[in-house]
Amino acid sequence: MAAADEPCYDAIVIGAGIQGSFAAYHLAERGRATLLLEQFPLPHSRGSSHGQSRIIRSAHVQQHYARMMPESYRLWQRLEARAGTRLYRQTGLLVLGAPGERRFEQWRRAAARPRGPPAAPSPQMAARKLLVLFGSQTGTAQDAAERIGREQFLRSGGVLRDGEKVLAVEPGCPLVVSTAGGRYRARRLVVAAGAWSRELLEPLGLWLPLQVTGGWGQGGAGGAPSGPSPGALGEPGRPPPTSCTPQVCYHHGSPVDPDQRDLPDSRPDVSVLRSFVRRFLPALEPEPALLESCLYTNTPDEDFILDRHPKHSNIVIGAGFSGHGFKLAPVVGKLLCELSLGEEPSYSTEPFRIGRFPGALRAAL
Ligand SMILES: Cc1cc2nc3c(=O)[nH]c(=O)nc-3n(C[C@H](O)[C@H](O)[C@H](O)COP(=O)(O)OP(=O)(O)OC[C@H]3O[C@@H](n4cnc5c(N)ncnc54)[C@H](O)[C@@H]3O)c2cc1C
Repeated sequence: MAAADEPCYDAIVIGAGIQGSFAAYHLAERGRATLLLEQFPLPHSRGSSHGQSRIIRSAHVQQHYARMMPESYRLWQRLEARAGTRLYRQTGLLVLGAPGERRFEQWRRAAARPRGPPAAPSPQMAARKLLVLFGSQTGTAQDAAERIGREQFLRSGGVLRDGEKVLAVEPGCPLVVSTAGGRYRARRLVVAAGAWSRELLEPLGLWLPLQVTGGWGQGGAGGAPSGPSPGALGEPGRPPPTSCTPQVCYHHGSPVDPDQRDLPDSRPDVSVLRSFVRRFLPALEPEPALLESCLYTNTPDEDFILDRHPKHSNIVIGAGFSGHGFKLAPVVGKLLCELSLGEEPSYSTEPFRIGRFPGALRAAL
């Protein structure tokens, strides 16, 4: 059981989702002996990072995210070049919302920031009381991104063990991480466990106010939309490819236990998607051809958590990505790496501090 021959790693990263994979990649790239532990056999679709695509956009309501985006684009490009794979595809972004609605208006201002005002609504949209925004510098990243991040980590000399759930962490220096497969020692730890972060951190005296909800994505039946559709994602001037199945996601599903997320009572969320498609995207078939569930881990203010454990400074936490963390993963990974190496982070992590949640730190049981 005990991995007596295991070296003392420079770093252990828990969770091989997009954030943990990038944190591990940066650590390994900087020459640190790094072990990445994942509870499920890879690849898996039980966390937050799977799926065919994620939106990348430079327009952000909060400036602290907008400031990180130029570097994030550069790091995505560097990853593409290293892997010889295309991950990013420029598509444009269509945002629909009710005029005057708070979030929509915030979006409108953010979209206007980089490149002039948003497009005017079409008569059809106006009739449905929706406004339309076209974002600049938007695109999608394939879910291959997660795999490629891990591949680059391995190429940089990192060690990956999947199918090994972390059961306990003993703080200290070195600290000890126990899984069903062994006990591993390291000088520092990065916890990037997505929806399972709370469960892992509570025994370390940290109660993070994270709420896990189920999100559902549906693909319209029949592949391509049946006619010219306001919901179609495509390159300007080209019809959508026949294999294109438009995706519609519900970002505010019901709370779920991450280990029980596929229970049938999550399904009412799907009817919300159906009625949205029926009402606002009538050229799409409302019955899903494919349903995929995904987990959101939300903080109360929807800002990330990127910080050191208040009591154990060699434990760094990256959690609460609140449905918008994928696009920034290359920078988030870099910040987690810098925090864990005790360096001044490249961007202010003030908005991401644990201290903004009073009562998060309690005596360990
Ligand atoms: C439907 C949907 C659409 C989204 N769309 C966008 C978008 O368009 N643009 C965008 O930027 N973001 C988007 N997001 C958000 C983005 O996908 C997430 O912020 C991101 O994937 C979070 O990654 P993560 O690494 O924190 O979590 P995860 O991917 O869940 O990774 C955590 C990993 O930790 C592992 N783990 C947990 N506990 C343990 C343990 N004890 N031992 C070992 N391993 C453990 C888990 O198995 C998991 O693999 C979306 C999210 C969803 C759900």
